[in-house]
Amino acid sequence: SLVKVVMASVEYLPPSRPRHLMGAGHPMLFALAVAMGCDLFDSAAYMLYANDDRLLTPSGTYKLDELKEMPCSCNVCVEHTPQELQTMDKDERRDLIAAHNLYVSFAEIRRVRQAISDGSLMELVDQRCRAHPRLLDAYRRLLNYQELIEKYDPVSKKSAFFYTGPESLKRVEVYRHHRRLNRLPKKRGLVLLSASNKPYSRHIPEDLGEFFSQAPVEVDEWQFMVVDIPFGIIPLELDEFYPFSQNESPSTLDVESENFISSIIKKLEEEYETIIVSENLNRRFNLGFKFRVEPPHIKLSDRDRLVAVADYQFGRGAGKALFNGNLQIIKSKKTGRIRYVYADDELIASIRTSDGFIIPSW
Ligand SMILES: [Zn+2]
Repeated sequence: SLVKVVMASVEYLPPSRPRHLMGAGHPMLFALAVAMGCDLFDSAAYMLYANDDRLLTPSGTYKLDELKEMPCSCNVCVEHTPQELQTMDKDERRDLIAAHNLYVSFAEIRRVRQAISDGSLMELVDQRCRAHPRLLDAYRRLLNYQELIEKYDPVSKKSAFFYTGPESLKRVEVYRHHRRLNRLPKKRGLVLLSASNKPYSRHIPEDLGEFFSQAPVEVDEWQFMVVDIPFGIIPLELDEFYPFSQNESPSTLDVESENFISSIIKKLEEEYETIIVSENLNRRFNLGFKFRVEPPHIKLSDRDRLVAVADYQFGRGAGKALFNGNLQIIKSKKTGRIRYVYADDELIASIRTSDGFIIPSW
């Protein structure tokens, strides 16, 4: 219900107004609350908890009489033992615990600010919400507000996307990707490739192994996509676009990830005339494709890449509008990536190194 109330405020209150979350002064809530758009927290909690001999930490609350060791490395925790605190008189003990609680609260606020600046707030929320089942519940509920969160979530971040559990599949970056995929025009045939190192197009093995389809193949134009977690499917042209090179996930898939991939492939079967898949994918996801086919000949021109990135970044048709002339493409000598695009000696776009975004020069 906390998530419901706060997210309703996000929907209906102007984003420029600061939001104070009354009655929420526990540091384990800060990251989640900030992710929901809260700016200010209750200022009395540190003292209320101290009055009750309870010590706050970002991962939970400790009652003083249950502690054998102090929980952090603030001055109070370094200079006292729980036994010492217990023998003090009430006021002195309360002030020391309050000092610890305040220290922990400010440290967490700083950590949240750093995470915002790094673009890793949701990774912090994910960590914090594993400390208590009710927080995990709140986090999962928050992830249902993808449409609303997407409005406020930057499309490019300084830090990589880390897969930290099935909840990551519902992160707004994944949601956004699947909405934006619709911006790319569909080809008749689809080739699904197993994931390799990133960026994928630079690590495609010489020998792709065997490929299978559900029916004899009759199409001659192909879209190439890599199957990977957490984004599911990544068009090869986008492999250098944020966050498709900037994400990490474990190579062992959990059940949710397997189901996620399976359901995506099922949907693709309705959208494409023909799909061919690597032997590895066929087996791993129980696809049951029976016809052995020629391994695909992977073609990816620089223009294809630019057009696809522009469509994906700006909207369908942008690629053709932007990159239609006689293009001269300048690549970085160091990385081999496209840096500048000229049309008839005029610079029309550069590609940002950090995230692969197209920066048009008009
Ligand atoms: Zn402490």
